[in-house]
Amino acid sequence: MNAPTKPPEARQRADVEILTLGCRLNAYESEAMRALAHEAALSNAVIINTCAVTGEAVRQARQSIRRARRERPDAEIIVTGCAAQIDPQSFAAMPEVSRVIGNAEKMRAESFAQTHERVAVADIMSVRETASHLIDGFAERTRVYVQVQNGCDHRCTFCIIPYGRGNSRSSPAGEIVEQIKRLAANGVPEVVLTGVDLTSWGADLPGQPQLGALVARILKLVPDLPLLRLSSLDAIEMDNQLFELVTQSDRVAPYLHLSLQHGDDMILKRMKRRHSRAQAIELCQRVKEARPEIALGADLIAGFPTETEEHFANLLSIVDACGLAYVHAFPFSPREGTPAARMPQVERRVVKERAARLREAGAAALERHLNAWVGREEMGVVERDGFARLPDFTPVQFSGGGEGHRRLRFTGHDGQHLIGAAA
Ligand code: SF4
Repeated sequence: MNAPTKPPEARQRADVEILTLGCRLNAYESEAMRALAHEAALSNAVIINTCAVTGEAVRQARQSIRRARRERPDAEIIVTGCAAQIDPQSFAAMPEVSRVIGNAEKMRAESFAQTHERVAVADIMSVRETASHLIDGFAERTRVYVQVQNGCDHRCTFCIIPYGRGNSRSSPAGEIVEQIKRLAANGVPEVVLTGVDLTSWGADLPGQPQLGALVARILKLVPDLPLLRLSSLDAIEMDNQLFELVTQSDRVAPYLHLSLQHGDDMILKRMKRRHSRAQAIELCQRVKEARPEIALGADLIAGFPTETEEHFANLLSIVDACGLAYVHAFPFSPREGTPAARMPQVERRVVKERAARLREAGAAALERHLNAWVGREEMGVVERDGFARLPDFTPVQFSGGGEGHRRLRFTGHDGQHLIGAAA
């Protein structure tokens, strides 16, 4: 879990600071909250957009609140995000906290008015609309996240997210296209479609369009957008049109981050995931056959309750079986209120040890991926001085400066990044 990001102007102590924890959806919403707080004439305040995906994330939220109060003794401390949505009273009880607002409320300007009630957190399960806001871009970011969907109708047994974000709801395609037109017109080189359960986009819209139809519409109606990327998705729920576009269009980034979670059928069943080991492997092979340059990443959880050494072996072997380049390895973290927290737990020491072995398998996979690039050249998007990313999400440290799109030649790697120079 990354430390909360502060945009550059915070260093001069911006009047209203926004600290963002957690996922890309939070990052997008923080950008929207910046405009909403301004609209409400909020001043001398710190907004903390929290995450609840793990116990560690909630601990960091509390830590950030205490630090903000120390650093800004007279500012208003407003806490929002999934941790505040799931357990508002525990944050309201913190002496450092001025107000707590929910995930739906944070997308309304009036919630930031100084007169608003101290705790404003509605039942997130009753929310039916996405509250999308047009943004112009992200401070200093070459890659801009656009929310197309929120919430989730699934109930994976380890996951607390639906309790923070509610049920699935989609932003209308027209609004999304307008948003992306605006970003492309501002010269943004890359847009990332993001949501909680991206592949459920459209299920609640008239005619139930699928994510593939949305991507096709964006590529057609925003011809000046250089690259469209998809954030994490439930690969098994990819529709045929989406598969076609991801594997055929060079304006769709050759990178898929899969929400696989495990590699053993029994554990996948106990997680209430919707795919089997064989289905995951078959899909990855089909994607790689259709577009060999595509890179695959996945979220994987080690130490899920009842996981035996045999189950764990199937988790480890899914890395190679799916040809993954990036592995986000998570030690299982019981979330109070989820079914998995009530299952027989694996010993903490064993959970940590297995997560370390999974990370090692991930490091070896990344090493193979980076080795395959050494000696070659590719166009990258410069994110900051000396750092760029390739379309397949490979990070590059390079000499020779420059910005925007740069042709780069790769001479080696450090196990994490390619090392290169402007070609
Ligand atoms: S699909 Fe499962 S893991 Fe993903 S947000 Fe929904 S409940 Fe959580």
